[in-house]
Amino acid sequence: MSAVIPIQAAPAGGGCSDAPVLRERGQREVFCGLTGIVWLHRKIQDAFFLVVGSRTCAHLLQSAAGVMIFAEPRFATAIIDERDLAGLADAQDELDRVVHQLLARRPEIKLLFLVGSCPSEVIKLDLSRAAQRLSARHLPNVRVLSYSGSGIETTFTQGEDACLAALVPEMPAAAAGAAPTLLIAGVLADVVEDQFQRLFDAMGLGPVQFFPPRRAGALPAIGPNTRLLLAQPFLADTARALEARGAQRLVAPFPLGAEGTEAWLQAAANAFAVNQVLFDRTIAPAKARALQATAAHRPHLAGKRIFFFPDSQLELPLARFLSRELGMQLTEVGTPYLHRAHMAVELALLPAGTTLSEGQHVEMQLDRCRAQAPDLVVCGLGLANPLEAEGLTTKWAIELVFSPIQGFDQAGDLAELFARPLLRRQKLGIPPVVRPDLRAAPLNTV
Ligand code: SF4
Repeated sequence: MSAVIPIQAAPAGGGCSDAPVLRERGQREVFCGLTGIVWLHRKIQDAFFLVVGSRTCAHLLQSAAGVMIFAEPRFATAIIDERDLAGLADAQDELDRVVHQLLARRPEIKLLFLVGSCPSEVIKLDLSRAAQRLSARHLPNVRVLSYSGSGIETTFTQGEDACLAALVPEMPAAAAGAAPTLLIAGVLADVVEDQFQRLFDAMGLGPVQFFPPRRAGALPAIGPNTRLLLAQPFLADTARALEARGAQRLVAPFPLGAEGTEAWLQAAANAFAVNQVLFDRTIAPAKARALQATAAHRPHLAGKRIFFFPDSQLELPLARFLSRELGMQLTEVGTPYLHRAHMAVELALLPAGTTLSEGQHVEMQLDRCRAQAPDLVVCGLGLANPLEAEGLTTKWAIELVFSPIQGFDQAGDLAELFARPLLRRQKLGIPPVVRPDLRAAPLNTV
């Protein structure tokens, strides 16, 4: 930590702010936006996600979310079958019938999302029209909205972005002249939200609202006095929609690691003129815990070389955390999309000279990865096993989205997520190098 510039003193335009970015368009290896339903349905506790898709979509969702034995799930797939595809049945009528059945049986549902998929988009099923029609019929009990989770254009975290962007028009307008409020956008685990809320309360900062809320009826009001703090780096459309309604985005890194969390909280404190002494005193115990917890993993990670395939859009903040707080060396940091405005602070904090890539041409990136022979590769599930078979150590990117990793009290767990695969390999006695005779072997990316 001594060799890096304090985050508050990082020069604008420093680090990788102006670094060239390798832009690639080719075959991608990512999950689709339906995956977001896994964490979204847990967050909004009276919402239901009805995917309009194929059996493939149903299988993806079922295997990603698991089976709930004791509770009825709050997601399902309305399967488009041959009759719909052949035009023998009116898909809109079929959808109405399924929705009426669902809502009659599940009166606790207050918000229903019709989630588009590749098949629904291919047959051009207009789910926004369906949502308007069904909302008109079921309001005020149930609001029906739609968004796309299809894999045609997206990477999996865009599912959350699309879902939240669909909610923005439903947010009430804040009263004119209302006191400033802090709006934190992006799904956070409840435990993380509660930790942040306690810190904001202790520094007298508020009112603070989280978006999405835990209940559909608790949508926060929005207006020119809303100060927007993004908790997730993949909310381009949501942020645009919120800013169009007057919210002012606060410039900050993302709350990963001790340093990122402090700077993220500081951005909010500055916007609400929190006394600096009070701020420092408030965060001191949690910050100390975070520093201690991450320090325990530093011996296993410092000096290790890491390569990121583009997957979750968390790559840049993670790379910043791992390089600055844990001393890892960044070989390549790939991201599906690079939002320069949202990533401005993160880019400035990355070590100059880091190779950045946006988009994916998986074969070419695999070649670069093999040539680098990094100690750890962060990638999607489809690449992890084949790369392990080649002798590389991998970390599943999706695990970083499913796990609570934001905030001071999660910083040690976040570091451990990267240390664990290296330690496992060490315990198994597998040498952390790629065997040259396997480097050029064809990769089976099932
Ligand atoms: S939305 Fe597309 S990519 Fe996702 S499971 Fe369905 S068919 Fe597959």
